[in-house]
Amino acid sequence: MPSAEHAARGLPSVDRLLGAAPVAALLAATPHSAVVAAARECLGEARAGTLAGAAVPSLEALAEQVVRKVEAGEIPPLRRVINATGVVIHTNLGRAPLSEAALALIAETAGGYSNLEFDLQSGERGSRHSHVAELLQQLTGAEDGIVVNNNASAVLLCLSALASGREVIVSRGQAVEIGGGFRIPDVLRQSGCALVEVGTTNRTYLADYEQAVTSQTALLLHVHPSNFRVSGFTSSVSGPELAELGRRIGVSVLDDVGSGALLDTSAFGLAREPTVQESVAAGCDLVCFSGDKLLGGPQAGLIVGKRSAVAVARRHPLARAVRIDKLSLAALVATLRHYARGEVVAKVPVWRMISAGVGDLGARAESWAAGAASWGLHATTVDAQSAIGGGSLPGETLPTVALAIGPREDGRIAPLAATVDDLAARLRGGKIPVVGRVERGMLLLDPRTVLPGEDAGLLAMLKAAAVG
Ligand SMILES: *Cc1c(COP(=O)(O)O)cnc(C)c1O
Repeated sequence: MPSAEHAARGLPSVDRLLGAAPVAALLAATPHSAVVAAARECLGEARAGTLAGAAVPSLEALAEQVVRKVEAGEIPPLRRVINATGVVIHTNLGRAPLSEAALALIAETAGGYSNLEFDLQSGERGSRHSHVAELLQQLTGAEDGIVVNNNASAVLLCLSALASGREVIVSRGQAVEIGGGFRIPDVLRQSGCALVEVGTTNRTYLADYEQAVTSQTALLLHVHPSNFRVSGFTSSVSGPELAELGRRIGVSVLDDVGSGALLDTSAFGLAREPTVQESVAAGCDLVCFSGDKLLGGPQAGLIVGKRSAVAVARRHPLARAVRIDKLSLAALVATLRHYARGEVVAKVPVWRMISAGVGDLGARAESWAAGAASWGLHATTVDAQSAIGGGSLPGETLPTVALAIGPREDGRIAPLAATVDDLAARLRGGKIPVVGRVERGMLLLDPRTVLPGEDAGLLAMLKAAAVG
């Protein structure tokens, strides 16, 4: 195809493309090699296009493509997203955002060296667990505590340490899958324990546990059913009730309380989550919970309980394999200190969001709606429900006021988006992705989960997605 060959030859050289104004400007702030690579790629694509019969792109068009390619390459694959879904502990969006103090302590300790495993008093080797043990004792009333990578590994470690090779009794109603393939029966098997299920899916009594105890029983296990709720004709034994039985018959009790509420959720208009303190006070040998659910900290698994049981877990070989990293530990220390100082609601984002008042949320939604209406969108505010998420308090919601964008008179939702799903997709594809939810044919953006400093960004992204 001589004409196509000729067209291919009509493309500029790499050097000429690098000299084009927008590309040359890019070179001032971007590594030369990245720009050259992008220019080569664009020319390669253009050559292939012209060979297939497409017109030769202009120098301006090619330069524009190079700029876009470089910019796209500068966006890291993992990045910040504005969560306007109203789901506070959104597992797919990174669960709990960290407090300013937690971020600052990560930066301070990880940007240099730290006393991670160094005892400053003796000048000798220390333990990374030492930084949280006292805080955990103070906050939960437990004799001792350690932290690991996440709660899934905490459960695995506790079971392996306390019950490997022996029997663990668990209610049929609690042999659940927590999510992400974390199934209690599988975890028990993985820990080398024999699962003894008692009761039925909907009803389990204390006597069911008692009758199943044998000389092989190592542990009574209580698992918070997380994102699963049995309603109607039901009966179950709580962690504290199981602790009472364990003490009476001399068998250890492990309570996986899941989200790890240290505060009384009923004070915030929610159902009452069992607290860590209650399970500890009732005498559970070990109680484990997540760091990044209702605690509002980093991914972590916290294990608290009796000194002897915690010591067995700490010494188990798995403890090294599932140990917490220094960044998470720094964030956890700072988060637990908020609890110790009684400043959780003011400082921990998850609790600030949960406690946000409808009046304040409504005012923010109104101001967003005013902005959106000024660009010609059909924007109103609607009463809606925010959710807690993260397997905590399933079905529990908090009243909120959301910005709602519905179809305009011409049937389109926005000049740049025909349907509500188009608009949602364009928002996700923006420079700062914004995730909302589609409900009742409208796009809802819930201010509850949008951090205070994110309002301007959200509006700019909405404008870019809707009207350009
Ligand atoms: C969430 C949850 C887990 C898993 O915790 P991660 O910190 O996500 O590993 C385990 N058990 C229960 C009951 C949970 O709710």
